[in-house]
Amino acid sequence: CGIVGYIGEKQAAPILINGLSKLEYRGYDSAGVAIFDEGEIKVRKFKGRMSILKEHLNKEKIQGTIGIGHTRWATHGEPSDVNSHPHTNCSGSIALIHNGIIENYMKLKEWLIEINGDHFKSETDSEVIAHLIDYFYEGDLLDAVYKAIEKMEGAYAIGVICKDEPDKIVAVRKDSPLIVGIGENENFIASDIPALLKYTKDMYLIENDEIVVLSKDGVKIFNELRQEVKRDVFKVTWDA
Ligand code: GLU
Repeated sequence: CGIVGYIGEKQAAPILINGLSKLEYRGYDSAGVAIFDEGEIKVRKFKGRMSILKEHLNKEKIQGTIGIGHTRWATHGEPSDVNSHPHTNCSGSIALIHNGIIENYMKLKEWLIEINGDHFKSETDSEVIAHLIDYFYEGDLLDAVYKAIEKMEGAYAIGVICKDEPDKIVAVRKDSPLIVGIGENENFIASDIPALLKYTKDMYLIENDEIVVLSKDGVKIFNELRQEVKRDVFKVTWDA
């Protein structure tokens, strides 16, 4: 029940693990990450304690400076490796983490199966979002996310990466928490401030229905109407 994302110049894996461990208080039954490694998105995810993921990543070094991580509190589909996040589209070119519940996921799933056939691997509501973004993707991830959320009902904080746009993370929230951490040549997303305090005290608090595009050197926040909005930096005054 937590999300973390990193884009910058450092190795993403340890930052994702550290951030997720600070969100353990939110409760979870599985954990996973997706990291860009030599142009491929590598997804590793496991049911159970985060130490399982951590030990795996200690053995298999995934090199990459952009990634997203998730701790899951299952709502749709039992806790299992397959149902853990990140979820991908069929080709694996899009990876997504989601906190929340998509109320109309069954309807969307049936619609996508009708169009594309059944390529679903998990029983989750969240996987539907990855396929939906893929359906709308025409070379512009932000545009595809806008089109996907138009179809989605429910609560969500989402982070997405896309193989064809390896210089960004797109994130969006509605009724689930999401903040941005601002660094130097690096930026972060997370469900909550403690996940990022080791790295920065400068945050943007993201409001409902806002979409954020993070690159290594900047953060852009857009509203529902696709207009860029300016946000004051929230300076955290307490320590980790
Ligand atoms: N509804 C999603 C699932 O069951 C996300 C749960 C969560 O917020 O961790 O996979």
